[in-house]
Amino acid sequence: MSVHALTDAQIRASLINVTQSERRNVTLPADVANTDWDRLEFYGGRDRKLALVGYVVAELDGVPTGLLLRQAESRPTSRAQCSWCADVHLPNDVLLFTAKRVGDAGRRGDTVGTLACDRFQCNENARRRPPAAYVGFDVEAARRARIAALRENVESFVRGVRNGL
Ligand SMILES: [Zn+2]
Repeated sequence: MSVHALTDAQIRASLINVTQSERRNVTLPADVANTDWDRLEFYGGRDRKLALVGYVVAELDGVPTGLLLRQAESRPTSRAQCSWCADVHLPNDVLLFTAKRVGDAGRRGDTVGTLACDRFQCNENARRRPPAAYVGFDVEAARRARIAALRENVESFVRGVRNGL
């Protein structure tokens, strides 16, 4: 698994739910060039200037497809679980993000929400070794399954927004 490496310009160009001015105002994390793409099922980063904005890019049928996400002002009330890495022992906060829908619906202000790790640390979280649940538990297989599930979760979210679901 893992995704193909993307440049700053490719990430910017991949965004499907942004206006021209939103695309111009993208300030990606400084370390895009140093990203270890072999360890990613999707790219995720927070905007360096816009405190509530983040970007996620998944590969849909080989095409990098990105979304601008906006962090909801209200925090989840209880200890929330990330919908993507589904980790129950998270070292980070989970926040509610919304993505503007593509096309007319988006222009009318329609959004889709998801709970996700605050800085999209899901790739890292899914790769941590899970605790052995019982004697003979296959930790490596469990880890691979979590990584595959993460990819599936993020791809289906991005695909849903792309397809206007
Ligand atoms: Zn996560």
